[in-house]
Amino acid sequence: NSSSHQETDIVVIGGGPGGSTVATLTAKFGHRVLLLEREEFPRYQIGESLLPSTVHGIGRLLGISDRLRAAGFTRKNGGTFRWGSNPEPWTFSFAISPRFAGPNSFAYQVERMKFDQILLDNARECGVDVREKCTVVDVLHDGERVSGVSYVDGEGRKHTVDAGFVVDASGNKTRTSKHVGERRYSEFFRNLALFGYFEGGRRLPPPNSGNILSAAFDDGWFWYIPLTETLTSVGAVVQRGAHEKVQGDPEQALRNLIDACPLIKDYLKDATRVTDGPYGELRVRKDYSYCNTEFWKPGMVLIGDAACFVDPVFSSGVHLATYSALLAARSLNSVKAGTVGEAEAMGEFERRYRREYGVFYEFLVSFYGMHVDEHSYFWKAKDITEHPLSEFEAFVELVGGAASGESQLLSPEATAENLVGGSRSLATAAGRLWEEPGALHGTAVVANAMTESARLQAAALLGVDGAESVPLFADGLIASADGTQWIRPDEY
Ligand code: FAD
Repeated sequence: NSSSHQETDIVVIGGGPGGSTVATLTAKFGHRVLLLEREEFPRYQIGESLLPSTVHGIGRLLGISDRLRAAGFTRKNGGTFRWGSNPEPWTFSFAISPRFAGPNSFAYQVERMKFDQILLDNARECGVDVREKCTVVDVLHDGERVSGVSYVDGEGRKHTVDAGFVVDASGNKTRTSKHVGERRYSEFFRNLALFGYFEGGRRLPPPNSGNILSAAFDDGWFWYIPLTETLTSVGAVVQRGAHEKVQGDPEQALRNLIDACPLIKDYLKDATRVTDGPYGELRVRKDYSYCNTEFWKPGMVLIGDAACFVDPVFSSGVHLATYSALLAARSLNSVKAGTVGEAEAMGEFERRYRREYGVFYEFLVSFYGMHVDEHSYFWKAKDITEHPLSEFEAFVELVGGAASGESQLLSPEATAENLVGGSRSLATAAGRLWEEPGALHGTAVVANAMTESARLQAAALLGVDGAESVPLFADGLIASADGTQWIRPDEY
């Protein structure tokens, strides 16, 4: 077995959405980037329900909007929940928020084998040296600084790579994140998920037929994700006290759990479980939530599931992976451009990433309080995000991945004008899309107030040319107009 040694600017460990995104955004900026992926794509992965911020914001930055459109993924207008003290299902639509107004008011439900392949192919086309069947086995150091990795290729040959920077995007089973602090598990979220795929399940009535359906039951909750017209991803997330119900024969366990949740049972009445191919297996995953004590150290950064994960109920995983990839790419690009030092650039990455993770975490804790109705959840979303508009909008923006106020997570159509216009149409949109009669959003007074605050919000967030005009943190950096790097507010 011969071995080799090479040298590059950035090594990315893992070719999931986080790894592909950071690799593409840094290669486009002129870095030499090597991406090492253990599997051969397409490979199976869970995490199929996306948010508008990923589809429109990250999709546009990566240049894959057309490919995503052409892939034929199911259009997700929002979410439908049987949750909390309300015995009836309730629905939210992304269209209620001016930030997702017009063409941005949806996301996709994706087969990850196809979605991740699109991102990885695109990385290759953007100049990333992508090598599949290559497993990183160790991280190299030069004193305190991380200086590269060693990996084993598909033929069992060992290689070493010297790199200016290593990005760990190797997911929840990362073996390398331990070089950057420690993983701390949440005491609160200790769930187990058991999931599989069904053909022929029922659909919600239009326009909600592509929505994720989440249904709580005594021991946890179900996701029901329409991947194609006939294929549905179905998973039970089971709370700590009931884990023994997932032990034993998984087929029987899933059947028992479905029987315990009348809504899902009804939706699967005429469906058959897929039993062959990549969707044929019933899988169990601990979806325990965790967060690393540090997200970076000199020469190395953690993004996506390698850094942190929080309960899947609001489908935030791919959003957090791709958003952290964007933040990390910005930091690496600024360092290359010589405009900001490593510590300051990475500090900005870590603060923003922790804030976004924290917003989801805090909100999800309250969302597991089942004794209240949905209005209490909306109030909590506004409280956590300090959102200037209504409680319901605060909720939709949070669960749509826009709580950071990042203008790059919107597509260009969401200009200031569009935000204002979107808000004007809220009164009608709310009446149409929010299924509760007599919702407050339907009044003219509320619509006017929303219009004004949307104008202020848009001006503050987008500045005049689309760049951020104020830092997220008082002493922090702002994103450049094209979103590719950080700049100091006084240089704006
Ligand atoms: P991954 O997608 O895990 O990619 C990591 C890659 O690294 C893999 O391809 C792996 O092969 C590779 N790799 C690992 N080790 C090495 C190594 N040593 N060398 C080289 N390569 C390596 N998210 C959503 O957005 N929506 C959902 O509906 C959703 N549902 C979920 C349901 C459950 C039960 C769970 C547990 C999670 C769910 N998620 C969901 C979360 C989602 O799966 C992840 O957050 C997302 O896949 C993270 O992306 P990533 O790029 O960080 O990592």
